[in-house]
Amino acid sequence: MDKIVSLSRRRGFVFPSSEIYGGIGSTYDYGHYGVLMKNNIRSLWFESMVRERDDIVALDSAIILNPRVWEASGHVAGFTDPLVDCRTCKLRFRADHLADSECGRRPSKRPGEHTECDLTEARQFNLMFQTQVGALEGEGSLAYLRPETAQGIFVNFKNVLQLARRKPPFGIAQVGKSFRNEITPGNFLFRMREFEQMEMEFFVPPDEADQWFHYWVDARYRWYTDLGLRESHLRKREHDESERSHYSSATTDLEYLYPIGWSELEGVANRGEYDLTQHTQSSGTKLEYVGPDGERYTPHVIEPAVSIDRILLAFLVDGYDEEVVAERQRTVLRLHPLVAPVKAAILPLIGKSDEMVSRARGLYEELRKRHAVEYDDGGAIGRRYRRQDEIGTPFAFTIDEQTLEESTVTVRDRDSLAQERLPIDGVRAWLDDALERPWKSPKES
Ligand code: ATP
Repeated sequence: MDKIVSLSRRRGFVFPSSEIYGGIGSTYDYGHYGVLMKNNIRSLWFESMVRERDDIVALDSAIILNPRVWEASGHVAGFTDPLVDCRTCKLRFRADHLADSECGRRPSKRPGEHTECDLTEARQFNLMFQTQVGALEGEGSLAYLRPETAQGIFVNFKNVLQLARRKPPFGIAQVGKSFRNEITPGNFLFRMREFEQMEMEFFVPPDEADQWFHYWVDARYRWYTDLGLRESHLRKREHDESERSHYSSATTDLEYLYPIGWSELEGVANRGEYDLTQHTQSSGTKLEYVGPDGERYTPHVIEPAVSIDRILLAFLVDGYDEEVVAERQRTVLRLHPLVAPVKAAILPLIGKSDEMVSRARGLYEELRKRHAVEYDDGGAIGRRYRRQDEIGTPFAFTIDEQTLEESTVTVRDRDSLAQERLPIDGVRAWLDDALERPWKSPKES
């Protein structure tokens, strides 16, 4: 993890938030390449969930909802983690994660194992951030920052059903920030207090719930492997009964082998009719489906839920590689070309050659209309290649003497380091094509 954190910092993918004031726990800011990569992940998810389907529509609901939403959903009463404090070292731990935590006095021990440990009894701690709405503080103005985007979807069920003219099975997808006052933050992007969730609630006739649950577990697994995540590092893990939320009849986590061990990347849950029933009872608005022939039922809900941050971390970990090439060490991010923040670099071999610079700028300006590409003429060519390797740029086009004579460029492949020559006029079509090709991680032998 340290190597990933340091690469992210060095190359401006991600850095601690409000760093000049000492930061604030588990909150991160994304720099240029981080933003480009997040945008790619968000649009690849949206493409597969909404754009390429007839049965899912998009929604963007507010972050601050009527607080009654969170009472009805069960979050006010039950969105809690059990917390213990150590009176000696003043650290705070999740009672259910003591086995994975480090004692404040001796990190090789678990909290409670050292003779000086003095742990309190576990007490429940609500993870929702509170805020005030309006000018007056006090009763009646209390509100919450949403801890998940899903409830904004459930409370809009009736609107969308009518306006989008859909009938189950159909889904509503939403991407946006969620906030949780996590007790034991840490582990970089894996557990943040502010993160960007991508959730889709799929409403189905009750007798089709099981079949759709399995469909979504498989579809979401395939989305990751199609984007090159190594199968050796991705697995499905079914929750047993004791782990499941009270309303869920089945949950399967897609787990990734992060440096902290196998951990939840994405959760797929069969939430039954719990949410729509709760909001129907609490709001008095019937959230149900009524068919043209009078048939009526409360749809069941299948939910794939994930954060962009956990996906981005999985891609960074999966792609990170170090190797020695021609006696020099290189660090390379082996990312799927569609995920990589920059698709291609355009490099004049000699940065001081006006002719090469002019041809390279021309190519760069042509390509940037369609793709995130980067122009770089500073320093030795080897160093420029290595800079691109570190941010995962899959292709580099180099403009050299031969370009000036016969209008061809070399293209260098990040993974194999193979080079070939192409006519400069064909680069645009070549790149379009290359980005469409299936890609498999060379780390998976
Ligand atoms: P965990 O058990 O790890 O706390 P969870 O089961 O509470 O996770 P869910 O409520 O199912 O998580 O949230 C759905 C998804 O949102 C998770 O699979 C994860 O991708 C993402 N997520 C949840 N909490 C965080 C967080 N603090 N930071 C980053 N991503 C998060």
